[in-house]
Amino acid sequence: MSNENIKVLVVEDEPSIRKFITINLVRNGFSVMEAESGESALEILNSFTPRVIVLDIMLPGMDGFEFCRRVRQEMPDTAIIMLTARTQDNDKIMGLELGADDYMVKPFNPLELIARIRTILRRMDGVVENSKRIRLGKFLLDLNAQKFFKDSVEINLTPTEFSILKMFMTNSGRALSRNELLNSVWGKNYFGDLKALDVYIRRLREKLEDNPSEPKYIETVWGYGYRWQHD
Ligand code: CA
Repeated sequence: MSNENIKVLVVEDEPSIRKFITINLVRNGFSVMEAESGESALEILNSFTPRVIVLDIMLPGMDGFEFCRRVRQEMPDTAIIMLTARTQDNDKIMGLELGADDYMVKPFNPLELIARIRTILRRMDGVVENSKRIRLGKFLLDLNAQKFFKDSVEINLTPTEFSILKMFMTNSGRALSRNELLNSVWGKNYFGDLKALDVYIRRLREKLEDNPSEPKYIETVWGYGYRWQHD
C-alpha cells in the first residue's frame, strides 16, 4: 500500500518526540502536519482533514481525552492512535471509550507506530470490495460507504467499531471467540489485551442495542466470546 497522500496529524507538545514521530512518518511516505496542543490541532483539523491522528494524552491546556471527544463528534471516520506515557490500564481504557482506535505506550519503536497505522488503514480500505451491503433484520451495514443503519437511521461508528460489527454481521448466529474477534480487527500479532475488546463491545451495545444493559443483538457467550443475533 502506498502511503502517498495519506494525511497524518501529530499532536504532541514535546518537540523532540513530535519531530521524531514526524520524521519517521515522512520517511515512510505519509503527509504529516504537526500541532503542539489540542487547541492548535483543532484549528487545522478542518483544512487538513487527516485520516489518522497520532495523539498524545498529556497535553497542556486541552488534554488528549478532551481532544479525542471533540474529534469523534465532528469526524467519526478519522482513526485516532493515542500515546500514553503512563502504563495504567485506566488511561488506555478511557482513551478507547472515548473512541480511540489504538494506543501506544511511550517510549515506542516508530516502526511499531507505522505498523499500527497501516493496520488501521488496511482495515478502513479492506472493506471496499464490490458493492456490498449486509442487511440483517432492522440493521444494514453498507461496506462501500462504511455506514451502518438501524431502522434506516444512521449510527455513527468509529473505524474499529465498524470492523467489529462487520465481523459480527458476516458471521451472524455464530459464536466468535474473543481471540478471534481481536485477531480479525487488530491482526494476529497484536499483543493487546482482551479488556480493550470488552470496551468496544460495550460501546457498540450502547450505540445499537434497544436496551444496552440487556443486550439482545450482541450476545455474550460466557467464557468464550460474543455472538450476533438479530430479530
Ligand atoms: Ca505530552
